[in-house]
Amino acid sequence: MNDETTERAAPDVPATRRGRSEAVIRARLLQAIFERRLPPGEKLTEERLAELFGVSRTVVRQALARLAQDGIVEQHPNRGAFVAAPSRADARHVLEARAVVEPEVAHALACRCGAEALARLRRHVARENAARAAGDRGTLVRLTGEFHVALAEEAGNPVFVRLLTELHALSSLAILLYARGEHAACPPSEHGDILGAIERGDADQATRLMREHIAHVAAEMDLSEPEDRPTDLAQALGITPRTRQRSR
Ligand SMILES: [Zn+2]
Repeated sequence: MNDETTERAAPDVPATRRGRSEAVIRARLLQAIFERRLPPGEKLTEERLAELFGVSRTVVRQALARLAQDGIVEQHPNRGAFVAAPSRADARHVLEARAVVEPEVAHALACRCGAEALARLRRHVARENAARAAGDRGTLVRLTGEFHVALAEEAGNPVFVRLLTELHALSSLAILLYARGEHAACPPSEHGDILGAIERGDADQATRLMREHIAHVAAEMDLSEPEDRPTDLAQALGITPRTRQRSR
């Protein structure tokens, strides 16, 4: 009657069934990370994940390796895998890259967006609005990031899709870490405005709105380095090193 049991399993229910693929594990981990059930810095234990998903550690290792390639997971030789915690500098670099790539994506899409693609993107924005209205911040951060990847998918350039998949993931982690207020994520109504310009085929307007949108996302984060940060160990410890006198 239905074949949706896999998709509908609640995230906290241990999956004892065998045969979960690496892709499923990756998707579930990503969802949990963006919805903040697994915060940046959290340890991801191979044995435990293998047990929960009912797979071998090899499969878990593959899933973690892929997430590490995308910058979502950090792997340390003797300590294991952790949810990545991008630095402020990492976050600035990601936003700079997005500011270059994403206006191009919006421009390309405004020149070629079909009715089906537009309907999909409109449905996506409706889900964002529902999450915002419900105060479900984790879902909102995830959905707003996925919107940007969806634009790249509909623009039909697979290189942009790969780039934005990685940039979106790092952006979402940075938002979780460095948001100034509770509302950070993409500002309300801006996705709808960008879609409006795309729908009218107004490529210049879509480009401009996307550029401004990325600037607004950046403004919602505190990405300045803490001031007066000690620059070396001696300074951090408050010790003035003695200058060595060389006899000669
Ligand atoms: Zn956005």
